[in-house]
Amino acid sequence: FIDLDHAATTPLDPAVRAAMLEWLDDTGYGNPASDHALGRRARAAVEAARAEVAALIGASSEEIIWTSGATEANNLAIKGALEFRGAERAHLITSRIEHKSVVDTCRYLETRGVRVSWLDPDPGGRIDTARVIAALRPETVLVSLMWVNNETGTINPVAELAPLLRERGVLLHVDAVQAAGKLAIDLAALPIDLLSLSAHKFYGPKGIGALFVRKRPRARLAPQLHGGGHEQGMRSGTLATHQIVGMGVAARLAAARRAGDAERLAALCARLERQLTSLPGVLRNGDAAHAAPHILNLSFAGIDGESLRARLPMLAVSSGSACSSATREPSYVLRALGRDDRLAGASLRFSPGRATRETDIDAAAQQVRAAVGLLRELAPGDA
Ligand code: PMP
Repeated sequence: FIDLDHAATTPLDPAVRAAMLEWLDDTGYGNPASDHALGRRARAAVEAARAEVAALIGASSEEIIWTSGATEANNLAIKGALEFRGAERAHLITSRIEHKSVVDTCRYLETRGVRVSWLDPDPGGRIDTARVIAALRPETVLVSLMWVNNETGTINPVAELAPLLRERGVLLHVDAVQAAGKLAIDLAALPIDLLSLSAHKFYGPKGIGALFVRKRPRARLAPQLHGGGHEQGMRSGTLATHQIVGMGVAARLAAARRAGDAERLAALCARLERQLTSLPGVLRNGDAAHAAPHILNLSFAGIDGESLRARLPMLAVSSGSACSSATREPSYVLRALGRDDRLAGASLRFSPGRATRETDIDAAAQQVRAAVGLLRELAPGDA
């Protein structure tokens, strides 16, 4: 079995697992909010992990708010910012190709009276900075834009956009789930106000993530989970020490390995692309000049996507994102890039990971070439 679906999730790094286990046994179960030895011990571990996550993105510890993942971080950032400013008559800007946890949060806010501008990407899947600026209104509270698209791997010009929004007093939220551990992120230098992370995309556990909330100037949010006032009142709930420790170790490893990982992954994607685009009728989805190292998305003209995937039982690849493939509709992201339903449906997203070898890439390419060849033979001229 060949896993080329690391953009959906990654396996737990053995060092992460080992570190987590200590906090599941009889000395590690303390409540980090408790004011006694057991609690203080857990709290120290939580704070050490917070510093590691902060370091991965050039933030300071007090700017990291633990959440259950990036879905929650995105919800908290967007709903929290709009609610704090008073959602009535407010305006926000996002794109049509965000992750569902942003798209559906913005749709929900529309039902609450918030005006939303939905920006279209260019054919390469980038959101042009000038378009964002042109969409600004006096009542714009927030722009929410992903750093790297999870289906195409296309990198958005967030570094160019951030200072322009800061000058204009508009908050910028960035879903950096697919950027963390792949691209350099330095929030000390980049005026992004809110940024979402998820541990399971960089070899940490599922069910833990973080929202960066800038302190200076302070990004203010209305909490979405009320209770004991944890996490500076922004996210109540007893902290999951083992999950947090896991995210901390994963963040430390991601920072240490980022440059090397990125180089290897880019080489693996390029190798796969060479072997597959030598077939006729293979189109790259996404802008090759602004590509994250770990995602390659291709459409195969003239074949049915469902049949193609059915012929690749030994390959873990994704069509559209795992999160929305339950709906079985062609990817809304590829549709927004201008692909028709058929080409959008006949797409595969490949995302190698740390354990992927060149031989895996070659075997995967061979399987895809065979499947495409066979399907075209069965239905010639179906393009
Ligand atoms: N944003 C992006 C870009 C993603 O790829 C994902 C994971 N599919 C999420 C948000 C959601 O993250 P989580 O699984 O932590 O809720």
